Amino acid sequence: MDVMELGRVFHWGPLIALSIIFSISTSSIVCDMMWWPLTTTGGIIHFIIYIMWMYLTLYHFLGGMYTGPGHVPYDWMPENEGDVQYLQYCEICETYKAPRSHHCRKCDRCVMKMDHHCPWINNCCGHRNHRSFTLFLFFAPCGCIHSLVILVSSLYRAVNAHYYIYYGSGDEPIVVLGLIPFLACIFATGLAIGVILAVGGLCVVQLKSILKNETGIESWIIEKAEYRQQADDEPDFVYPYDLGKWDNFKQVFTWKGTPVSNGLVWDVREGCNQYTLTMEQIAQKKEKKDRAIQYTIIEQYSGSWFPISRGFKVCCCPPCTDEARIAVKKGDEVLVTRWKKHWLYGELIHPKKAVAPPPTGRDRKRGWFPRKCAVELVNNGCTFPNLSKKED
Ligand SMILES: [Zn+2]
Ligand SMILES: [Zn+2]
Repeated sequence: MDVMELGRVFHWGPLIALSIIFSISTSSIVCDMMWWPLTTTGGIIHFIIYIMWMYLTLYHFLGGMYTGPGHVPYDWMPENEGDVQYLQYCEICETYKAPRSHHCRKCDRCVMKMDHHCPWINNCCGHRNHRSFTLFLFFAPCGCIHSLVILVSSLYRAVNAHYYIYYGSGDEPIVVLGLIPFLACIFATGLAIGVILAVGGLCVVQLKSILKNETGIESWIIEKAEYRQQADDEPDFVYPYDLGKWDNFKQVFTWKGTPVSNGLVWDVREGCNQYTLTMEQIAQKKEKKDRAIQYTIIEQYSGSWFPISRGFKVCCCPPCTDEARIAVKKGDEVLVTRWKKHWLYGELIHPKKAVAPPPTGRDRKRGWFPRKCAVELVNNGCTFPNLSKKED
């Protein structure tokens, strides 16, 4: 692992996640030492079990972060060169996208079986780290449930400490907490409840997608494929990677710890091939391109996320995504592919210059901008207000 890779932890996501793990576990350990001291065998076993949750959580958290999802090599080609016709080309990596891979703008690479970019591990969740990522999501709430038992019982003992000191049988554990440690324990209890709900929920989502052998992005592609076949009377789309629940599970969770596939070639079900999904993606892209409408910009926009000068409604109903916003100026032309009530998503059309090279992936400017700033351009050159197109 190189030094650059080690620096991955210095980002708000991992730093906050590690701080949360640290505050919950230190508060729990401090309380545990008073609530169930290590003077008995039971106390020692209990403590070891608690430390085990902590270790497994941290191990899989760091594993998910540093193993990474795996990237499509820059020189990757399918075994049969003619098969490139079934693949999309990544203009940024300047390579063909292997089946199931997607380009991540944050990682700036094509990621194998990309699920999503996770700011908490400051890395993508994808092929190689899907297992450790999901195990982290499993062990963190387990540890927090255990913490919650320790913290709530200790807080109860601490509040009633005087009672136990004067009237107790002498066998009860005496938990004494000063004001600051007491407040810290209450804070840690809140954090633990938050982790159980939020991370536990994410764990359920990940397990469901592993059982279907679908990533978040693929679920979206399947949804569009089903919609397409209904609308266009196309033959039924069969998702190629669903091998049955148990086999799907075993693709990700192996005893060796490494997933079954190499991230480039995948096991597919009968009647499908390596390119069933990529061909569907290409067909969807083509349909999207055919649907695109050219707009002319009539008012400039700075690219701000909350363009207050464009009105209250534009600010209040932003597209719910962290996709880029693009700055546009009067006279620019944009090819729009997605419509929201107050926003449009499109790509800036570069004015054709005789000497300038065609835009490469990195020069392409795509993103959201307020709908108010543009008018739809009709073939004969006249324009009319952009109220005709319904939103997605
Ligand atoms: Zn790429
Ligand atoms: Zn990423």
